[in-house]
Amino acid sequence: MMKVPLLDLKAQLAPLRDEILEAVTDVIDSTQYILGDKVRLLEEHVASYCGTNHGVGVSSGTDALLAALMALGVGPGDLVLTTPYTFIATLGSVLRLGAQPVFVDIDPVTFNISPDRMAEVLASDPAQTEKIKVVLPVHLYGQCADMGRIMELAGHYGIAVLEDAAQAIGASCPCIDQGEMNWKRAGALGDAGCFSFFPSKNLGGVGDGGMIVCNNDKLAHDIRIIRVHGGAPKYYHAVVGGNFRLDPMQAAVLEIKLSHLPDWHRARRRNAQIYDRLFAEAGLIANGSVEIPQAVYQGQAEKESYDPDYHIYNQYVVRVKDRDSLKNFLFEKNVGAEIYYPVPLHKQKVVENLGYNDLCFPEAERAAAETLALPIYPELTEEMLEYVVDRIAQFFK
Ligand SMILES: *Cc1c(COP(=O)(O)O)cnc(C)c1O
Repeated sequence: MMKVPLLDLKAQLAPLRDEILEAVTDVIDSTQYILGDKVRLLEEHVASYCGTNHGVGVSSGTDALLAALMALGVGPGDLVLTTPYTFIATLGSVLRLGAQPVFVDIDPVTFNISPDRMAEVLASDPAQTEKIKVVLPVHLYGQCADMGRIMELAGHYGIAVLEDAAQAIGASCPCIDQGEMNWKRAGALGDAGCFSFFPSKNLGGVGDGGMIVCNNDKLAHDIRIIRVHGGAPKYYHAVVGGNFRLDPMQAAVLEIKLSHLPDWHRARRRNAQIYDRLFAEAGLIANGSVEIPQAVYQGQAEKESYDPDYHIYNQYVVRVKDRDSLKNFLFEKNVGAEIYYPVPLHKQKVVENLGYNDLCFPEAERAAAETLALPIYPELTEEMLEYVVDRIAQFFK
């Protein structure tokens, strides 16, 4: 029987293995084990790839969020407006600082925070809006949230915007910049953006890592200080920080992988298009068994002369009938599939005593109940994609 795992890092490693081992050996032989040139170089290259002035390498995507929120001055009594349908780290970083979330329901098409709901929430309670220090949209599954409208709303209320771009490095979205239409990459859209180099992300290290990108000199400077225990100069502390440094060994590996990222993004998009076609051919869309993900910026991208990364498909997530049984069926057929995320954040036990459990975000709850992520990694063959769709068709027979 064919086997199609959700992710196959061995397939990605094989052609790069020698180069990676050499780079890691270089770091070990150099004895520069903390920050240094490797980290600085990766920061420059990621920032330039994203179109920002600064990149600050940190220990994980989670620490990127935490350090950036600290630099933006978030603390006890502050509110952070965000989505209830994301990975726990988005919320965790807010709660760890003694701040609280204001949840806004998602758009059912993109799974990203809904600008319409956001506008309602901001307008409905001026006393609450007054306390919102940061808007924290997540570019879920590799597609940017509607940053045009989010920036407009946040700007109107004078609130900073931090992008949780952990799943979306390189993803671009169209935006109006000084009257002109432009494509900008995740992290260059808000005041700052946070990336994760967790191995399952499109750009993944051989362990944990993350980065914050931004254009603002002062913010980058503050984050650099927070990254090293708040010391500036070393051993003189005006602020509390943490040990949030990116490991140079990870930086050396990521540097090699960064040069392949555009090709990997393209391969994931190609796989998504093959899935879309196969699901249509199998009649599974027409009969309502499967709803394929929508790349909402694709139409506009295809009109442009160059090839923007309108979606980087960190995940290919379908809505299906009878989701849990399908997942088990696929498991038996050697197909990896995963539920991101089975419990929306307002229903998590960790916020039980904050009263969020009683709130209702119908679209986040529906997404949590209906969605399933299928294998989408770049090295998949068309034969493997056919196998996945054939098994799903078999399930719905
Ligand atoms: C992966 C992820 C994070 C956390 O990144 P780590 O590097 O695992 O700490 C944060 N937010 C989202 C949306 C993520 O997917």
